[in-house]
Amino acid sequence: MRITIIGAGYVGLVQAVGLADFGFKVICIEKDLEKLRQLKFGKIPFYEPGLEELFKKNLKSDRLNFTNKYSNNISQSDVIFICVGTPPKKKGESDLNFVNQVTKEISKKIEGYTVIVSKSTVPVGTSLLIENILKKKKSVKTFDVVSNPEFLREGSALDDFMRPDKIIIGCRTVKAEKILKKIYKTLKRPFVVTNNETAEIIKYANNSFLATKITFINEIADLCENIGAEIKTVAKAIGLDGRIGPKFLHPGPGYGGSCFPKDVKSLIYQGNKNSTDLQIIKAVDRANELRIKSLFHRIKKIVNNKFNNIQIAFLGITFKPNTDDVRESPGIKLAKDLFKTKAKIKIYDPKGMENAKKELSKSIEFCDNEYEVVKNSNLLVIVTEWKQFKNLDLLKIKRLMKKPVILDLRNIYSKEITKHGFQYHSIGNN
Ligand code: NAD
Repeated sequence: MRITIIGAGYVGLVQAVGLADFGFKVICIEKDLEKLRQLKFGKIPFYEPGLEELFKKNLKSDRLNFTNKYSNNISQSDVIFICVGTPPKKKGESDLNFVNQVTKEISKKIEGYTVIVSKSTVPVGTSLLIENILKKKKSVKTFDVVSNPEFLREGSALDDFMRPDKIIIGCRTVKAEKILKKIYKTLKRPFVVTNNETAEIIKYANNSFLATKITFINEIADLCENIGAEIKTVAKAIGLDGRIGPKFLHPGPGYGGSCFPKDVKSLIYQGNKNSTDLQIIKAVDRANELRIKSLFHRIKKIVNNKFNNIQIAFLGITFKPNTDDVRESPGIKLAKDLFKTKAKIKIYDPKGMENAKKELSKSIEFCDNEYEVVKNSNLLVIVTEWKQFKNLDLLKIKRLMKKPVILDLRNIYSKEITKHGFQYHSIGNN
């Protein structure tokens, strides 16, 4: 089976490396020439633990190849995975420009029966849209379009690819279903076979539910702060209820990343378009947006309403640990808001600084390590729960800071830290 992957981003590259490792011959088409150059030189263009080793192994075996050319690669493919971005438009609608462009390219080149699989997160009706583009081309005779949404998490993408909770196959023919099952058979994981439209909505329902869980625990954390309760124990206790489960019950600065914010907004848009008022999801979206504002006010209160001559150190800037991705990161939003004040912002993140520099003002200082960033700071904000931040030399931090004040947005420390002379603020604890 010859497989083509279009788009070598977080999803496409993991898919390409994973399938090559299963023994398939995989061609990956990437239009970004800088990314392509790096890939051809054996370097992955982003940080994802464990991916580079497997990537190099499969590159060497010649099962994995990269190009920016559609031509023969498409005509010789049996299965084509579309893994391009679907960013949000202003009103929450998914921008399907990349998907449309790719489909048009495919329609010019396919010969013989081909399965076109959408791995990108796309609104309901996109399979039909792809089918219609393909049907318009007289030379395209036989094909199937499959919706096979991806559920990997950045930071553990390879693991998630290798051990997914489920594999969704949304298709219209048994032929396509069999081909997809053959591709994924090595994984020995449960398949959910359904029609394309159901598969498309599953992805949005899944991500929006997780976003809801995060937002819920954030609200309960706010209440805990105001009534003198401890969120950690509340989360643990409710998580022990088998109907709830312990995951995604960690309060923090709100959800971010390239998926949850845009998928929640897209689901609201799809609801509105289909006369369905998704009130819970709308509330989740609004609460998450307001969270940055409330954190800003919390910081303002901590610095006694004065940002003049105040230096704020950020530990972490990525939306979660083990990634260099800063798309929709709460840290970026908070840094942008604080930058508008007179405070001086300094940032250290183990992997995300290059991407953050592209998003933030040049006047924000990026530091080489945890200790340099806190030097002369009045406040340390722990933004991302990188493992290496969990065992800081607190005495050194205290010595270096102008004022030993910590706002821990991930609750990686506890009140114990006040024994070292810190003023400690966290989420959901009085
Ligand atoms: P990404 O931006 O990292 O990667 C997309 C890649 O596609 C880019 O490298 C881009 O240059 C390339 N591309 C765009 N148009 C192209 C074209 N015409 N030809 C060839 N290459 C092209 O995006 P991503 O994070 O991998 O996400 C891709 C899709 O998967 C999105 O719909 C996203 O919502 C979904 N998804 C993402 C994640 C995640 O954690 N990142 C998880 C599940 C699903």
